[in-house]
Amino acid sequence: MQEKLDKFKQLIAEITDLGRAEALLGWDQQTYMPRGSAEDRGNILETVAGLTHTMFTSKEMGDLLADLAPYADTLDPDSDDACLIKRIAHDYGKSTRVPTEWVSEFARVTTMGQMAWEEAKASDDFEVFRPHLEKLVQLRQAYANFFKPFDHIYDPLLDDFEPGMKTSEVQAIFNALRPQQVELLKEIAAKPVIDDSFLHIPYDEKGQWDFGIDVITRFGYDFNRGRQDKAVHPFTTSFGIDDVRITTRFDPDRAASALFSTMHEAGHAMYEQGVSKTLRRTPLANGASMAVHESQSRMWENLVGRSRAFWQFFYPRLVKQFPGQLANVSQEQFYRGINKVEPSLIRVEADEATYNLHIMLRLELEIALLEGSLQVGDLPQVWNSKMEEYLGVVPPTNREGVLQDVHWSGGMMGYFPTYALGNLVSAQLWDSMLGDIPNLEAQIGEGKFDELLGWMRTNIHQHGAKFEPQVLVKRVTGTTIQPEPYMKYLRGKYSEIYNL
Ligand code: ZN
Repeated sequence: MQEKLDKFKQLIAEITDLGRAEALLGWDQQTYMPRGSAEDRGNILETVAGLTHTMFTSKEMGDLLADLAPYADTLDPDSDDACLIKRIAHDYGKSTRVPTEWVSEFARVTTMGQMAWEEAKASDDFEVFRPHLEKLVQLRQAYANFFKPFDHIYDPLLDDFEPGMKTSEVQAIFNALRPQQVELLKEIAAKPVIDDSFLHIPYDEKGQWDFGIDVITRFGYDFNRGRQDKAVHPFTTSFGIDDVRITTRFDPDRAASALFSTMHEAGHAMYEQGVSKTLRRTPLANGASMAVHESQSRMWENLVGRSRAFWQFFYPRLVKQFPGQLANVSQEQFYRGINKVEPSLIRVEADEATYNLHIMLRLELEIALLEGSLQVGDLPQVWNSKMEEYLGVVPPTNREGVLQDVHWSGGMMGYFPTYALGNLVSAQLWDSMLGDIPNLEAQIGEGKFDELLGWMRTNIHQHGAKFEPQVLVKRVTGTTIQPEPYMKYLRGKYSEIYNL
């Protein structure tokens, strides 16, 4: 069996390498690639992706898994080998259930869909996108049906991003959360509006870059095993445990956006830099799920980066960097400004108090589309009425409404809930961490983050993708994902800021 295990690991290592090469090409595409090189790059990426797929779904892999899956049951279930075999068997099982014809049709329809979505968004004309989205919904329904029997048609889609999690679990969490978030928002809306005008004046890019680098270096992002570059849409990508890169962007009218985005991406990157080196060259050198990944980025961005303690240390430094903009703004004014709550139309610009509501709306619509209880043609109208119900604002255009996100045009259904779940996990982990590090806030106030990062390394990062998200969260916090810690965090924070 040892020989088969070695052969299996060698095959997995090579497939992982190909995936990393693909990621490197993708990183270059979004940072330094000349604009006219799209066709050349497309050819290379297609070849590499094809090779990866062929190797992963090969008969050799199937035969090895047939022998190794029963063997894995005899191993310690927490061991690297058992987790690796289990994970690959899961992914292999999924990929072999989906016919090649579906895969090629999906690739074709999403390419067309993305172009149509861009055009529809630019001209604010939903009708341009409608037939493509109808086709994509049909394809996603067909995809789900390859995995029958299921409890809910959305389950196989969600499983692609949150392995093992069920739609009913997410719905139960969101149903408990929604009325509390709506109520909190109503209370805040009745209070005076916070002045954050000092965030909407020009801040020079070099100063923003330097300040961001100082912050994430203190967090513990290892520049010896990573780097930061500029990109249109900020992202994190990994070519191995020792090469995890981030990108950021600068918006002249929204100075805070680059800084918080830098902290966010560094949170993702520190997760991957912290995976145990024994998992190198396997798909386990990754986050446990999208939600757990997002818990790390959101924690550094919000629970740390938007906290009073954090700015106690960093605000004097920021004022020194930008005396012209901030000399007359007190630390308290600044803290309130970066935590201003304002129901808005656009998800990616939403604050902590409103963000999850944007996600809940999308999840409800995705589920209704897949179930067939909502027709694509009725989507814009239903979107707007739900926006009014949850956030009290109605998009004047579809561009600022149903057409704002790229996800559906790429057929990515099942992804949205992971953003909100990530917020919940961040607060839940934070509570557990406070039990172990009672003076955490004081440490943050001194600009010290090593105990915080060390706790995450031990409890979350080192395990990579060895455990399913709900299993990991339960191991660390004692329960599966719960809405209460996040609600308690929001209530506590905003009661104080808004005098609720
Ligand atoms: Zn993120």
